[in-house]
Amino acid sequence: MENNHVAVWKKCLDIIRDNIGDPKSFKVWFEPIKPLHLDKQVLTIQVPSQFFYEWLEEHYIDLLKKVIKRELGSGGRLQYSIVMDTADSFQITQKSGNRNGLVNPLIQIPVTDNSKMDPWVRAGMPTKTRVKSNLNFKYTFENFIEGDCNRLARSAGYAIAEEPGKTSFNPLFLHSPTGLGKTHLMHAIGIQTKENFPDKTVLYVSSEEFTQQYVEAAKNGSKNDFAHFYQAIDVLLIDDVHKLSGRSGTQDQLFHIFNYLHQNGKQIILSSDKPPVDLADIEARLLSRFKWGLATDLELPNVQTRIEILKSKIKNNGEIDIPNDVIEYIAYSISNNVRELEGILNSILAQSILNKRTITLDLARDMIDKFVRNSAKEISIDYIKNIVCDYFQITVDEINSRTRKREIVQARQLAMYFSKKHTKCSLANIGVQCGNKDHATVLHAYRTVTDLLDTDKQFKVYVEDLEKKIKISN
Ligand code: ADP
Ligand code: MG
Repeated sequence: MENNHVAVWKKCLDIIRDNIGDPKSFKVWFEPIKPLHLDKQVLTIQVPSQFFYEWLEEHYIDLLKKVIKRELGSGGRLQYSIVMDTADSFQITQKSGNRNGLVNPLIQIPVTDNSKMDPWVRAGMPTKTRVKSNLNFKYTFENFIEGDCNRLARSAGYAIAEEPGKTSFNPLFLHSPTGLGKTHLMHAIGIQTKENFPDKTVLYVSSEEFTQQYVEAAKNGSKNDFAHFYQAIDVLLIDDVHKLSGRSGTQDQLFHIFNYLHQNGKQIILSSDKPPVDLADIEARLLSRFKWGLATDLELPNVQTRIEILKSKIKNNGEIDIPNDVIEYIAYSISNNVRELEGILNSILAQSILNKRTITLDLARDMIDKFVRNSAKEISIDYIKNIVCDYFQITVDEINSRTRKREIVQARQLAMYFSKKHTKCSLANIGVQCGNKDHATVLHAYRTVTDLLDTDKQFKVYVEDLEKKIKISN
């Protein structure tokens, strides 16, 4: 029976079609699959890309398992053959994704390079260069909770996924301090785009990776390959572009890639910890392009949204029951960062699972106390001195010395000010560690800084920057 694999797969498809309900999903995710062969109880099917395989694994694994079991018996196995996900000449290095550590006995991990047999061609679709998208399936629109804090960004992102490159949000520039959902939203846009347009090339890349690729390409004399690779992308998502600051070579390349993509109606999405106007050491011509489309921020979620985010994370974590008063308590206690909110939730869940503690208000209070105290404890005078020195580009030795050079005195006073504010050390102790001064000098420094804060705008900027750095790095 030569054609057995075809017949078996056809039967599988009939069941799958009945079970999926939505004809569009069936068409997109199952029609392109080609049965290759059947060896005893192992059916091999060919899928067009790694992304495709991951999508199936993520969304249809239970259904596939059932169907295979039904058609091939309980020892039935499904094996994938993946058409290689490579670009013409430039290949991104990335870890192959076992994203959530799922080990699935049914699935045997991808096998062959089968680039000669392109199912898209057979299905009458245009051949495209294929690129691994780097998308993380955890971060979907569905679990990106909407609130006043993100409504504009979220809906712009959604609109983009409907018509990439065709809206006025090009580029979409998302900015916010860390932990408020930029990366999550970018992945969500990528995933949604892929779902709407499976044949579009979507690529998520961090600015560090982008830089590293460029540096390597420059070293190997393959800058052109680098540029061509990026020119083939339909939806390019670059995370944390503030990290490109000072990297003029990389910025220059990005400038050309940006122009090419934009002129060709391709979509660009960027994120940063600051709005474009506040980005330091980014070329003006690149900055001006960042402002072409929509620049919008993600704000701190209000307590209602925080509660909803917690509930959604709890739901995704399985069937663990957390009383409402505990959820509210967490949401009220942690207000400045969604990542922290998640961190607290995870430690409470871990306590309850590992130590078999019931989740009560007391447990939550304990964990939050610990969390908050821990982060305060880490701030030391040395730590503050390092941040201040880094900021003013001076050395710790200079702060420790007795020099009275103006800029050193100012840095020393700031180190004293923040040490008094953020550590539990005595004034005398702070004095000793900042240039061997006495406690009166520390007090004087503290007052000088508070006075200057009211009168000197530039100085105020320094203090605010430093305050942020101290908090963020902590
Ligand atoms: P950023 O890139 O701005 O630093 P992330 O996207 O990494 O922030 O978000 C930090 C964490 O908070 C992630 O786990 C993300 O899922 C979660 N998060 C942020 N905003 C939301 C939201 N609106 N709904 C659900 N989860 C969110
Ligand atoms: Mg991020």
